[in-house]
Amino acid sequence: MIKISGLTFDYPGHRALHQVSLHVEAGSVTALVGSNGAGKTTLMRCIAGLETPLSGSISVAGLDVLEQPREVHRIMGYLSDFYGLYQELTVARCFEYAAAAQGLPAPAMPQAIQTTARQLGLTERLQQTCDKLSRGLRQRVAIGQAIIHAPKLLLLDEPASGLDPEARASLAGLFRQLQAQGMTLLVSSHILAELDEYSSHMLALRDGKVLEYRALDHGSTALAPRKSLRITLAQANPGLQAQLAAEPALQISASDERSADVVFSGDEHAQAALLARLIGGGLAISSFTDQKENLQQSYLRSVASYENGQSGQNGQHTPSNGRSAS
Ligand code: ATP
Repeated sequence: MIKISGLTFDYPGHRALHQVSLHVEAGSVTALVGSNGAGKTTLMRCIAGLETPLSGSISVAGLDVLEQPREVHRIMGYLSDFYGLYQELTVARCFEYAAAAQGLPAPAMPQAIQTTARQLGLTERLQQTCDKLSRGLRQRVAIGQAIIHAPKLLLLDEPASGLDPEARASLAGLFRQLQAQGMTLLVSSHILAELDEYSSHMLALRDGKVLEYRALDHGSTALAPRKSLRITLAQANPGLQAQLAAEPALQISASDERSADVVFSGDEHAQAALLARLIGGGLAISSFTDQKENLQQSYLRSVASYENGQSGQNGQHTPSNGRSAS
């Protein structure tokens, strides 16, 4: 959906993006993460055709963003980190305005407005003016404006900032729903636990460079060949390590007499058989859990490996495990 090659962007006196290359898969939800000033907003603005890079190319669904910005905007929605709404317009008029700006033909507008309002739970609010809406509802109107033309790609810069936990949860539900409809999403946020709920990929930026772009491990499918497990015993057993070491499908990462972290290779049936053998062997197992790496751990691992690379390789680094990034 998004292909970026050798993208470099300079603000006066400051290089904000350095040689960013990236392929974002259609239908994915990518969490764009990175510390303050990493370049997230700049990257989104470049993809949205709102900034002209110093060098490099960006295409969206095969369209060149610099050469065909209008065509790209027809298939893209963008919610900036600081957006404005016309306070005195009703929600319906805000949607109509956005639909007109996106070039939707007039006969298609009523349907688009109704569909968007339904998706965002705003049907009852269509005749209310924006100045009467809570922050969460205003955020929904802004997202509605970004998706009124049913874009293929949606860019959201900090969409949940300032929202309460309930509003964040319903936003996560909306993003899952949009993905299920086939939309590709790129979402930036500093709240990684929240991104973790709906993201399929992580794009980590640091100092304007791609640290890592990869599919997130959303854990245990029946076919997952390797997974990290934590085994905990109800009481200490000096034989734990020896018993685990005798299992050919296990690799022990850490263990003591009470617990062990292991990497297991095998499907769910093999995992069930392993558990039965360990219990049969006399281990009082109180928990046997899949240790899925969450987005926060994944991001911190990327940063740590970047920093180790920086100190070890005099500033050179290669993104670890990157799919199509450099
Ligand atoms: P945050 O998480 O704080 O929103 P970000 O990752 O979105 O940060 P950007 O806003 O893209 O980062 O900024 C990248 C770098 O470019 C930062 O060092 C920032 O100070 C700098 N920068 C951003 N806008 C400008 C500007 N208009 N002029 C000069 N430098 C800028």
